Amino acid sequence: RVAQVRALAGELRRRSEVVSTVALTHVANRRGLHQAFEAETARIERQGAGAGLAVGLIDIDNFKKLNDSLGHAAGDVALQRLAAEVRARLRPQDTVARFGGEEFVLLLPDTAAADAQRVLTRLQRELTASLFMHDRQEVFVTFSAGVTALRGDEPLEAALERADEALYEAKRNGKNRTCAV
Ligand code: GH3
Ligand code: MG
Ligand code: MG
Repeated sequence: RVAQVRALAGELRRRSEVVSTVALTHVANRRGLHQAFEAETARIERQGAGAGLAVGLIDIDNFKKLNDSLGHAAGDVALQRLAAEVRARLRPQDTVARFGGEEFVLLLPDTAAADAQRVLTRLQRELTASLFMHDRQEVFVTFSAGVTALRGDEPLEAALERADEALYEAKRNGKNRTCAV
Protein backbone atom coordinates (compact mmCIF):
# COMPACT_ATOMS: atom_id res chain seq x y z
CA ARG A 1 0.00 0.00 0.00
CA VAL A 2 2.64 2.49 1.13
CA ALA A 3 4.84 1.48 -1.78
CA GLN A 4 1.95 2.09 -4.18
CA VAL A 5 1.31 5.53 -2.77
CA ARG A 6 5.01 6.34 -3.05
CA ALA A 7 5.14 5.18 -6.64
CA LEU A 8 2.11 7.30 -7.47
CA ALA A 9 3.59 10.36 -5.77
CA GLY A 10 6.79 9.90 -7.76
CA GLU A 11 4.85 9.56 -11.00
CA LEU A 12 2.87 12.74 -10.28
CA ARG A 13 6.07 14.63 -9.57
CA ARG A 14 7.61 13.45 -12.84
CA ARG A 15 4.50 14.39 -14.79
CA SER A 16 4.27 17.87 -13.33
CA GLU A 17 7.92 18.38 -14.23
CA VAL A 18 7.15 17.40 -17.81
CA VAL A 19 4.28 19.90 -17.91
CA SER A 20 6.40 22.76 -16.58
CA THR A 21 9.27 22.06 -18.99
CA VAL A 22 6.94 22.11 -21.99
CA ALA A 23 6.19 25.74 -21.28
CA LEU A 24 9.84 26.02 -20.17
CA THR A 25 10.03 29.65 -19.24
CA HIS A 26 6.42 30.67 -18.41
CA VAL A 27 6.85 34.08 -19.97
CA ALA A 28 5.18 35.59 -23.04
CA ASN A 29 6.12 34.53 -26.56
CA ARG A 30 6.55 36.85 -29.56
CA ARG A 31 2.79 37.06 -30.05
CA GLY A 32 2.27 38.01 -26.40
CA LEU A 33 5.01 40.59 -26.74
CA HIS A 34 3.33 42.27 -29.70
CA GLN A 35 -0.03 42.25 -27.94
CA ALA A 36 1.52 43.92 -24.90
CA PHE A 37 3.26 46.46 -27.12
CA GLU A 38 -0.02 47.33 -28.88
CA ALA A 39 -1.77 47.76 -25.54
CA GLU A 40 1.05 49.94 -24.24
CA THR A 41 1.21 52.23 -27.29
CA ALA A 42 -2.59 52.59 -27.20
CA ARG A 43 -2.37 53.60 -23.55
CA ILE A 44 0.35 56.16 -24.34
CA GLU A 45 -1.86 57.63 -27.07
CA ARG A 46 -4.75 57.93 -24.61
CA GLN A 47 -2.90 59.12 -21.53
CA GLY A 48 0.32 60.61 -22.86
CA ALA A 49 3.79 59.12 -22.67
CA GLY A 50 4.46 59.75 -18.97
CA ALA A 51 8.04 58.71 -18.19
CA GLY A 52 8.00 56.73 -21.44
CA LEU A 53 8.20 53.08 -22.38
CA ALA A 54 11.58 51.43 -21.83
CA VAL A 55 12.42 48.54 -24.17
CA GLY A 56 15.10 46.09 -23.07
CA LEU A 57 16.86 43.12 -24.61
CA ILE A 58 18.48 40.45 -22.43
CA ASP A 59 20.91 37.79 -23.62
CA ILE A 60 22.42 35.09 -21.38
CA ASP A 61 26.21 35.21 -21.14
CA ASN A 62 28.35 32.31 -22.35
CA PHE A 63 25.33 30.09 -22.71
CA LYS A 64 26.94 27.88 -25.31
CA LYS A 65 29.73 27.10 -22.86
CA LEU A 66 27.18 26.24 -20.14
CA ASN A 67 25.37 23.85 -22.52
CA ASP A 68 28.65 22.31 -23.63
CA SER A 69 30.09 21.81 -20.17
CA LEU A 70 26.98 20.84 -18.15
CA GLY A 71 24.60 19.60 -20.82
CA HIS A 72 21.51 20.92 -22.59
CA ALA A 73 19.24 19.95 -19.66
CA ALA A 74 21.26 22.16 -17.32
CA GLY A 75 21.02 24.92 -19.95
CA ASP A 76 17.24 24.56 -19.97
CA VAL A 77 17.09 24.81 -16.18
CA ALA A 78 19.31 27.89 -16.27
CA LEU A 79 17.00 29.47 -18.84
CA GLN A 80 13.99 28.70 -16.68
CA ARG A 81 15.63 30.07 -13.55
CA LEU A 82 16.67 33.27 -15.24
CA ALA A 83 13.20 33.86 -16.70
CA ALA A 84 11.61 33.25 -13.29
CA GLU A 85 14.05 35.57 -11.49
CA VAL A 86 13.57 38.37 -14.00
CA ARG A 87 9.78 37.96 -13.93
CA ALA A 88 9.66 37.88 -10.13
CA ARG A 89 11.74 41.03 -9.70
CA LEU A 90 9.89 43.24 -12.16
CA ARG A 91 6.50 44.87 -11.67
CA PRO A 92 3.22 43.20 -12.69
CA GLN A 93 2.70 45.76 -15.46
CA ASP A 94 6.10 44.95 -17.00
CA THR A 95 6.27 42.48 -19.87
CA VAL A 96 8.88 39.71 -20.09
CA ALA A 97 8.87 37.80 -23.37
CA ARG A 98 11.08 35.08 -24.75
CA PHE A 99 12.34 36.44 -28.03
CA GLY A 100 14.74 33.78 -29.21
CA GLY A 101 16.61 30.83 -27.77
CA GLU A 102 18.30 32.64 -24.90
CA GLU A 103 17.06 36.15 -25.50
CA PHE A 104 14.28 37.99 -23.68
CA VAL A 105 12.55 41.28 -24.42
CA LEU A 106 11.31 43.58 -21.65
CA LEU A 107 8.68 46.32 -21.87
CA LEU A 108 8.72 48.64 -18.85
CA PRO A 109 5.86 51.18 -18.87
CA ASP A 110 6.38 54.63 -17.39
CA THR A 111 10.12 54.07 -17.10
CA ALA A 112 12.97 56.19 -18.43
CA ALA A 113 15.88 54.32 -20.05
CA ALA A 114 18.23 55.33 -17.22
CA ASP A 115 15.81 53.86 -14.65
CA ALA A 116 15.47 50.65 -16.64
CA GLN A 117 19.27 50.45 -16.70
CA ARG A 118 19.37 50.83 -12.89
CA VAL A 119 16.71 48.15 -12.39
CA LEU A 120 18.54 45.66 -14.62
CA THR A 121 21.93 46.43 -13.10
CA ARG A 122 20.54 45.69 -9.63
CA LEU A 123 19.03 42.44 -10.93
CA GLN A 124 22.42 41.50 -12.38
CA ARG A 125 24.14 42.12 -9.06
CA GLU A 126 21.59 39.94 -7.28
CA LEU A 127 21.94 37.14 -9.82
CA THR A 128 25.73 37.23 -9.66
CA ALA A 129 25.50 36.50 -5.95
CA SER A 130 23.27 33.45 -6.51
CA LEU A 131 23.80 30.00 -7.97
CA PHE A 132 21.76 26.86 -8.32
CA MET A 133 22.60 23.20 -8.18
CA HIS A 134 22.10 20.89 -11.12
CA ASP A 135 23.29 17.27 -10.91
CA ARG A 136 25.34 18.22 -7.84
CA GLN A 137 27.12 20.91 -9.83
CA GLU A 138 27.07 24.64 -9.10
CA VAL A 139 25.65 26.64 -11.96
CA PHE A 140 26.09 30.40 -12.29
CA VAL A 141 24.06 32.37 -14.82
CA THR A 142 24.62 35.98 -15.81
CA PHE A 143 23.15 38.05 -18.60
CA SER A 144 23.91 41.20 -20.54
CA ALA A 145 21.28 43.74 -21.49
CA GLY A 146 20.63 46.75 -23.69
CA VAL A 147 17.89 49.29 -22.99
CA THR A 148 16.39 52.20 -24.86
CA ALA A 149 13.34 54.47 -24.73
CA LEU A 150 10.60 54.08 -27.32
CA ARG A 151 10.60 57.18 -29.56
CA GLY A 152 7.49 58.81 -31.03
CA ASP A 153 5.36 56.30 -32.91
CA GLU A 154 8.20 54.06 -34.02
CA PRO A 155 7.50 50.32 -34.31
CA LEU A 156 8.83 47.93 -31.67
CA GLU A 157 11.41 46.60 -34.15
CA ALA A 158 13.08 50.02 -34.39
CA ALA A 159 13.49 50.22 -30.60
CA LEU A 160 14.74 46.61 -30.52
CA GLU A 161 17.45 47.44 -33.06
CA ARG A 162 18.79 50.17 -30.75
CA ALA A 163 18.47 47.91 -27.71
CA ASP A 164 20.45 45.29 -29.63
CA GLU A 165 23.25 47.79 -30.28
CA ALA A 166 23.36 48.61 -26.57
CA LEU A 167 23.37 44.87 -25.79
CA TYR A 168 26.31 44.42 -28.14
CA GLU A 169 28.15 47.18 -26.30
CA ALA A 170 27.43 45.43 -22.96
CA LYS A 171 28.90 42.19 -24.35
CA ARG A 172 31.94 43.98 -25.73
CA ASN A 173 32.57 45.74 -22.42
CA GLY A 174 32.85 42.48 -20.49
CA LYS A 175 29.25 41.12 -20.18
CA ASN A 176 27.09 40.92 -17.02
CA ARG A 177 26.17 44.60 -17.43
CA THR A 178 23.47 46.80 -18.93
CA CYS A 179 24.06 49.57 -21.46
CA ALA A 180 21.53 52.24 -22.42
CA VAL A 181 21.19 54.05 -25.71
P1 GH3 B 1 27.44 35.43 -25.45
O1 GH3 B 1 27.90 35.59 -24.05
O2 GH3 B 1 28.23 36.25 -26.41
O3 GH3 B 1 25.97 35.69 -25.60
O4 GH3 B 1 27.71 33.92 -25.85
P2 GH3 B 1 26.64 32.73 -25.92
O5 GH3 B 1 27.39 31.46 -25.89
O6 GH3 B 1 25.58 32.91 -24.90
O7 GH3 B 1 25.92 33.06 -27.30
P3 GH3 B 1 25.66 32.21 -28.58
O8 GH3 B 1 24.64 32.96 -29.36
O9 GH3 B 1 26.95 31.86 -29.25
O10 GH3 B 1 25.01 30.84 -28.07
C1 GH3 B 1 23.69 30.77 -27.66
C2 GH3 B 1 23.46 29.33 -27.28
O11 GH3 B 1 22.20 29.19 -26.67
C3 GH3 B 1 23.46 28.40 -28.44
C4 GH3 B 1 22.32 27.45 -28.19
O12 GH3 B 1 22.79 26.14 -28.13
C5 GH3 B 1 21.81 27.84 -26.83
N1 GH3 B 1 20.36 27.76 -26.71
C6 GH3 B 1 19.43 28.45 -27.40
N2 GH3 B 1 18.17 28.09 -26.99
C7 GH3 B 1 18.31 27.14 -26.03
C8 GH3 B 1 17.38 26.38 -25.22
O13 GH3 B 1 16.15 26.49 -25.31
N3 GH3 B 1 17.91 25.50 -24.31
C9 GH3 B 1 19.26 25.34 -24.19
N4 GH3 B 1 19.71 24.48 -23.29
N5 GH3 B 1 20.14 26.03 -24.93
C10 GH3 B 1 19.68 26.92 -25.84
MG1 MG C 1 22.19 35.05 -28.19
MG1 MG D 1 24.24 34.58 -25.17
